[in-house]
Amino acid sequence: MPLIIKDEYPEKLFREDGKRLDGRDKHELRPIKMEVGVLENADGSAYLEWGNNKIYAAVYGPREVHPHHLAKPDRGILRVFYRMATFSVFDRKRPAPGRREKEISMVITDCLEPVLFLELYPGTSFEVFINVMDADGGTRCACTTVAALALADAGVPMKSLVTAVAMGKIDGELITDLSGIEDKAGEADLPCAMTWFNEELSLLQFDGKMDLEEFSKCLTLGKEALTKIHEIQLDTLKKKYIEIQEELKGGENEQ
Ligand code: UDP
Repeated sequence: MPLIIKDEYPEKLFREDGKRLDGRDKHELRPIKMEVGVLENADGSAYLEWGNNKIYAAVYGPREVHPHHLAKPDRGILRVFYRMATFSVFDRKRPAPGRREKEISMVITDCLEPVLFLELYPGTSFEVFINVMDADGGTRCACTTVAALALADAGVPMKSLVTAVAMGKIDGELITDLSGIEDKAGEADLPCAMTWFNEELSLLQFDGKMDLEEFSKCLTLGKEALTKIHEIQLDTLKKKYIEIQEELKGGENEQ
């Protein structure tokens, strides 16, 4: 990929051979790698590499709410803290959380809340701390995906996992899983998230221009991409439990 300096974007987002600048086909996902139980001091945690995005999520709870005035007597609350490291983007990011981080924290909270049984935990909170160490487009989707995994790793009862992906349009073509440069220089960006217990969208944002037919096609293609990512989430969780099972078997054999 050519070196991008500040706001200089390439004129074309497809190469001569019809591939995207990073070599992908139109509806190919970036490589995705997930792991759970990566942080010793959290109740649950997960790590995600999604293309050039590198993200950690740590979960605590249910626990006492601080500050106390935020507690709800009839239900628990979910608090999400999305942060980008100063070194995570080309231009140094200011360390203090800005408006964008607050918005994305709120968006991720809304994505995750429908799968939790918050009514069973009055007066308590679940807290999800998400740190983006390297950012390259679609971080709100990647963070939603890794946060759901960390909640599951913490043993928090959930109706299902939540999975997110950004669909979009570049140079007149619909594409799946926008990279940073495609997000900035493309025509449209459509992040969406799905809660699997009811197969409903818990996030649908839209920035740019496309007609209704394209919008509808994006949702169909989005579901295909979400299904593949959901399978990786499930495999990651299963892998952890298979490892625990094997450790237990090993212990029994030693006795
Ligand atoms: N970005 C950046 N500097 C910032 C914020 C974002 O370079 O201060 C980049 C980063 O790669 C991010 C991309 O712009 O992933 C798109 O950001 P957006 O706000 O659209 O959210 P995202 O696509 O990450 O959910």
